[in-house]
Amino acid sequence: MASLYLKDVTDRAKGTVIRSTGSWSSVLMADGSVRECRLRGQFRMKGLRTTNPVTVGDRVEVLLNEKDRTEGVIDSILPRKNYVIRKAVNLSREAHIIASNLDQAIVIATVEQPRTSFGFIDRVLCTTEAYSIPAAVVINKADIYTSDRAKELLTSYVSTYGKVGYRTFVTSARTGSGIAELENWMHDRVTLVSGHSGVGKSTVINALHPDLGLKTASISEAHAKGKHTTTFAEMFPLVNGGYIIDTPGIKEFGMIDMQPTEVSHYFPEIFGLSDNCRFNNCTHISEPHCAVKAAVEKNRIPETRYTSYLRIVESMGQ
Ligand code: GDP
Ligand code: ZN
Repeated sequence: MASLYLKDVTDRAKGTVIRSTGSWSSVLMADGSVRECRLRGQFRMKGLRTTNPVTVGDRVEVLLNEKDRTEGVIDSILPRKNYVIRKAVNLSREAHIIASNLDQAIVIATVEQPRTSFGFIDRVLCTTEAYSIPAAVVINKADIYTSDRAKELLTSYVSTYGKVGYRTFVTSARTGSGIAELENWMHDRVTLVSGHSGVGKSTVINALHPDLGLKTASISEAHAKGKHTTTFAEMFPLVNGGYIIDTPGIKEFGMIDMQPTEVSHYFPEIFGLSDNCRFNNCTHISEPHCAVKAAVEKNRIPETRYTSYLRIVESMGQ
């Protein structure tokens, strides 16, 4: 692949990174074209060691050569409004930035085939709260919930998250039911999608953007060869405005820098009651006169949410 020489630069323009595998990034330009871009020099973010300098969602300034309509060089990254990371698995403590400039997130879950645990949904929601990113819960495969047991479970998922204040959608990517409402909620926004594999993430994304299959193939081919591209996020424009960011292979985003005492801040219904606890540093685990435990007993806080809260705190070693 020929590369643009800096001496040949004739223009510069802003764009959005829709895919990045490290050395190459696909940048969507204002004119609708997609440029394969290298980075110019090294970018380092202050205060955060990351394995990837550029991420999906980044707004960048690209150097262009008017003779070359396919490539460019990323000259700078505009300040990020926010970003989510995944902790790197190696010992270097470097983080991998999954995506940036997000407006909101959805967690896609299913009641059956496979059954998504409350714990998984709650971990995602706790993380999005920590990032201050509004989130919604999408229960997909509505078409198969015909047994009494499945209907009962569906009702309990919807009422649990509704009660806590999360927007919930019940969809079937197969029949199309509920997809228009979801699309409407995503309109003109950048939405991060998460969910266990098998819940229908790809099918939902395809339903939100029917042309997607073709488009992703052509964008990806250029530099996907021989790489584990499945662990990189990818951003898709929605037909009516807005973007959806898929995170294939990334099961959970990292809860970086969260202290056990902070977890309650990210369960809105628990946080909302903590002023009523006797002790102002109440952890809502074993203290007497705890307003949170009382609310769980009276079923004003869903028990599954409280259990998830305890598990997350426990998993942090306290
Ligand atoms: P992903 O792993 O989350 O991306 O899941 P896929 O989109 O690959 O879907 C997993 C399986 O569930 C496939 O066989 C889909 O056809 C099926 N599926 C997806 N959405 C629905 C749905 O709304 N209803 C039903 N019955 N099946 C679905
Ligand atoms: Zn308490």
